[in-house]
Amino acid sequence: MAADDATRKWAAHPDVDVEAINADLVSGRKTVDVALYYPNNLDERHHSTVNVELLLEGFARAKEVFAAADVQLKLTKFDTGWLSPSHFAIKASKRGRDLPMGRFSNMYVQAEQHPAVISDEAQEAFESMIGDEPGSDLVVHVVTLQAVFMDYYEPVVEGRVYQPQVIETGGLSFPGYMHGDTIPRPLRGVITITNLTRTENSWKTIAHELGHKLLNVSHEYRDIDPQHEVLADGGLMFYGSGTEIESGPEGRYHYERLHKSPFIYTEAEDGSRAYNLDYEGGGFYYDDIYEGMSMEF
Ligand SMILES: [Zn+2]
Repeated sequence: MAADDATRKWAAHPDVDVEAINADLVSGRKTVDVALYYPNNLDERHHSTVNVELLLEGFARAKEVFAAADVQLKLTKFDTGWLSPSHFAIKASKRGRDLPMGRFSNMYVQAEQHPAVISDEAQEAFESMIGDEPGSDLVVHVVTLQAVFMDYYEPVVEGRVYQPQVIETGGLSFPGYMHGDTIPRPLRGVITITNLTRTENSWKTIAHELGHKLLNVSHEYRDIDPQHEVLADGGLMFYGSGTEIESGPEGRYHYERLHKSPFIYTEAEDGSRAYNLDYEGGGFYYDDIYEGMSMEF
């Protein structure tokens, strides 16, 4: 059954008042543009895990989290339209790029040596929703899908045997520290959201994924080095209830790194925008823009 063209076309969601959501924005403040996307033909059984209300609530909580760190989030659009059902569920990256964690370098160094590369189906799904408008590379695009799977390798015998695991994500941020500049530039701001009800802390999923993208760090907090998943309280970048974005070496420079993000701009009275400098080395963790704001470990 083919949907007619009018239903397929992506356009503003009729139930979302973008202007009202942005009513609290103050000109002259540091700002990040965020666009939300919600396909109108997802399976009905997926609706209870992600829907318009949950997306808007997650965005509202993210606004609070980042406002506490002196950055405001502007909703540029909330679009809906038809998505090819073959893209409802995707693998995030091409197989074999994300190697087991090495013993000789930390995960950020290793990711720079072997950047993750998005899968063809991920790229097609993102292109069909986000497109390639001018300035697209300076917007964080939060797209809804039904399932996004990522590979990782569980050590079974120390330093010798690894077992590939496939994780179904609730949100995935495709961050610079994993991908560098391997994502086509108009799509580099993409974040997938697939489940906003998985745990009692799922209200912070959108803020947390924005944290990966904008702080450009993995799951780390104070003296705890990054790991794949950390189920603990403490900071925005753990899976617990924390939302802090802390500064200084004690806070792993999260606040300072956020404020270096190339997605941040300030808008003058006349509407002209001044963006932060772009990444210099592809956007990995140790990119030159973060000089003095990266941890050695
Ligand atoms: Zn995470």
